[in-house]
Amino acid sequence: MRIDILTLFPEIVEAPLRASLLGKAQEAGRLEIVVTNIRDFALDRHKTADDAPFGGGAGMVMKCEPLFAAVESLRDRNSLSQVYLMSPRGRRLDQSIVRELAQGPDLALICGRYEGVDERVSQHLCAGELSIGDYVLSGGELPALVVVEAVSRMLPGVVGDWESVETDSFYDGVLGPPQYTRPREFRGYAAPQVLLDGDHAAIERWRRKEALRLTRRRRPDLLNNLDKDDRVLLAEIEREEDAERKGEQP
Ligand code: SAM
Repeated sequence: MRIDILTLFPEIVEAPLRASLLGKAQEAGRLEIVVTNIRDFALDRHKTADDAPFGGGAGMVMKCEPLFAAVESLRDRNSLSQVYLMSPRGRRLDQSIVRELAQGPDLALICGRYEGVDERVSQHLCAGELSIGDYVLSGGELPALVVVEAVSRMLPGVVGDWESVETDSFYDGVLGPPQYTRPREFRGYAAPQVLLDGDHAAIERWRRKEALRLTRRRRPDLLNNLDKDDRVLLAEIEREEDAERKGEQP
């Protein structure tokens, strides 16, 4: 997959893109990420990429001509079918949107700055706007990195062990299970015995049950589409927690 990031501040995204899984995925040719400096497409000799808002008001607005020219310059290498503006007003990112984005052969992410971006960019250049949550950052670079990292985890071969993706939170709708590693006991806190006994079926069942337990406590809104096995485990959890509340042995 190819991902283009368009920004006025390439230095904010370059180091994270070289590190860890993203760096390795690019070295292995599984992913191509290209950063374009929007300022290189400014029309005047001062390389102006922003201007005062029409109608007055605070701050500056990113101009549309450099952005259209920057995106259109990618035409030979990117289908431009998935050009998104990073914006707090956009669709709020979740795992189903991440999966959708990962289907495409390519993706282009525009990072806003200042008061935002001339509306004509969103209306006439982009397939939509993407938000990483209901809060406002100073620029779209960190949001773009969030999208890149989440999407790249869905691509074959980027995360070495696919099982680790499948057991992640949200992969199949629920939160991930608790994890433990050595030592077996730390300051009197013991790791669950079932994880140490080597019975793989029991471990799998325990992990699924604890994932459901966490989801029930923290994100009950995610428990809508459970299959029969999960509903059995959930009923068990409910009985246990009910007994605990009443001070009984489950
Ligand atoms: N005035 C804009 C508004 O109210 O929607 C916010 C501008 S913000 C200071 C500058 C840029 O940061 C935005 O154009 C966008 O690219 C990026 N940004 C800020 N918060 C974001 C979020 N939650 N998700 C995605 N992008 C965000």
